[in-house]
Amino acid sequence: MTSPTFDFADYQTLDSAELTRRIQRVRAEMGPRLLILGHHYQQDEVIELSDLRGDSYGLSELAASNEQCRAIVFCGVHFMAETADILANRPERLRQRGGERVAVILPDLTAGCSLADMADLGQVERCWDELDEVIDTGDLMPITYVNSAAALKAFCGRRGGLVCTSSNARAALDWAFKRRRRVLFFPDQHLGRNTALAMGVPLDEMPLWDPQQEPLGGNTPETIRRSRVILWNGFCGVHQMFQPQHVAYFREKYPGIKIMVHPECMREVVEAADAAGSTSKIIETVEKSAPGTRWAIGTELHMVNRLRRAHPEQEIHLLSAAVCMCTTMFRIDLPHLCWAVENLAAGTPVNIIEVEPETAAGALEALKRMLEVK
Ligand code: SF4
Repeated sequence: MTSPTFDFADYQTLDSAELTRRIQRVRAEMGPRLLILGHHYQQDEVIELSDLRGDSYGLSELAASNEQCRAIVFCGVHFMAETADILANRPERLRQRGGERVAVILPDLTAGCSLADMADLGQVERCWDELDEVIDTGDLMPITYVNSAAALKAFCGRRGGLVCTSSNARAALDWAFKRRRRVLFFPDQHLGRNTALAMGVPLDEMPLWDPQQEPLGGNTPETIRRSRVILWNGFCGVHQMFQPQHVAYFREKYPGIKIMVHPECMREVVEAADAAGSTSKIIETVEKSAPGTRWAIGTELHMVNRLRRAHPEQEIHLLSAAVCMCTTMFRIDLPHLCWAVENLAAGTPVNIIEVEPETAAGALEALKRMLEVK
């Protein structure tokens, strides 16, 4: 691997104006060959420099369809960059480009996702093997939330399963139930539970699998045999901060207020809210709402603040007094972005995320199904 031309330490003392100017210069030089993707939870000064912004699903589609770019700088977290690498460098795209890879870069390698880290391949394989002793795993569909490592996506792909996002979780479960009797859903218990409940699956048919407990993840064989959706004991620490008492507080303080939350929030919060939906759905709902609408929104702080500024004709609150912020996403800042794009332009790219081919092939199967299931 070549050494970087530029040292990150030299970027830490530069001010935002200088960093922005230099990032803009690289964007102008590279034109459509460079694509900077920004997740909705990203901080403002970074999102303003993104060519495209979106949620995991939207950004995945963009990475899958763009034909011009030769480098993606992903201002998100690690699993998103992995997904972009798998989609942008899938075999047919590589053939079209004569074998040239799109370099996918994560400006700070420590930008991970605490939810994704709650399930690893060894744990899920052990779970599957244990389940196989109690139920027919041939009739069990594995679904992983996109917030997961590529190895888990490959696990699903090789077993006929798929990846879902918060935008298409219901469609993914529908798809699964048309083919198999049960679902193993990981790593986010809340998205799985909230989605399955809305489809009419009763709570007592959704046991929680805790990988730290034995045997059977803390369940009895009877509970597993009765199950329709086996939920993994994972959660997003940001969305789990929203509590039912926050909903009660805002309803009492602002009669008539509408509460809208992300489905990664716990069931009690989703049930108490007026609406639940993906980040894109939340944005779309606010955009279509009448002036004067009053909202309390339960999702990441930066996105809620941006919505508030974009819609001064409405009154928008964060559904918590606490700072519900994705601290790992926040690690992607202007110094890291500038360092990454300048090294890229100098021909010494840093922090390339490249999923090894066998894992990428398995994960691609599951991702293709995700893109088909809407
Ligand atoms: S908000 Fe939660 S689920 Fe989303 S990237 Fe951050 S830690 Fe992961």
